[in-house]
Amino acid sequence: PKQHATRVALVTGAASGIGKAIATRLAAEGACVVIADLDLEKAQAAASEIGNSDVAIGVQANVTDASAVQRAIDDAVLAFGGLDLVVNNAGLSLSKPLLDTTEADWDLQHDVMAKGSFLVSKAAARVLIDQGLGGDIIYISSKNSVFAGPNNIAYSATKADQAHQVRLLAVELGEYGIKVNGINPDGVVRGSGIFASGWGANRAKTYGIEEEDLGKFYAQRTILKREVLPENVANAVIVLTGPELSHTTGLHIPVDAGVAAA
Ligand code: NAD
Repeated sequence: PKQHATRVALVTGAASGIGKAIATRLAAEGACVVIADLDLEKAQAAASEIGNSDVAIGVQANVTDASAVQRAIDDAVLAFGGLDLVVNNAGLSLSKPLLDTTEADWDLQHDVMAKGSFLVSKAAARVLIDQGLGGDIIYISSKNSVFAGPNNIAYSATKADQAHQVRLLAVELGEYGIKVNGINPDGVVRGSGIFASGWGANRAKTYGIEEEDLGKFYAQRTILKREVLPENVANAVIVLTGPELSHTTGLHIPVDAGVAAA
């Protein structure tokens, strides 16, 4: 497929967890990467772990802020001469039951994930369309976009919103050769800031287990009995945006080690 000689990728929320693994893997495959995150220091640290500023830069971008998003996209084009791939990965989870979920919780979850990825996709699509080289937009949605789990109405609803953005944009951007696909991870405990910042403790309480056993607990529930790691999600990004899947758009790939019916 047509693209810049060196692929340029922007990954949101890539200062840690799944996003960092995606940026690291894309760079290992030869791409130049922009790590866009709320946390500038962590974004720059992640970038310098990947390589020098010829291959990776960290920029501050709150995805809920349209002008900050535009600056991050402009930074990518300025630093690396174009854009080929954007990953909507930034996210957080407040993990609360319905009666504890406040309006502010609902707004924050939807601002960061539904609105944030809309803003990023819109700013990126403008560049991709102008370049005329096609490109890829990936959404890191969640198994929660399809399956209902306990105590996370705001999170799951906004993940379902992202999933429909994938289908809608696949249709709208297809004529420009831009593919839009999603990934539905589940149970990525190790290395995930989401689990470290409350979700893990909350989940462990929900299941009546110790927080440190959560990774193993999730693994035992899967068909493959395997723990899902950030690198497994990064592999799916490589496959979905690679030459072998040049004719696939609007798809969601589960990265959850398999889920069986009861
Ligand atoms: P993480 O907390 O390690 O990473 C999230 C990153 O997003 C952080 O670096 C954070 O600073 C950044 N971020 C948060 N709000 C932002 C904003 N407004 N603007 C820019 N950046 C912002 O968590 P993770 O587990 O790596 O999650 C990454 C994505 O994967 C999220 O969208 C999450 O919903 C999704 N996901 C995770 C799992 C899992 O099991 N960990 C499962 C399904 C989906």
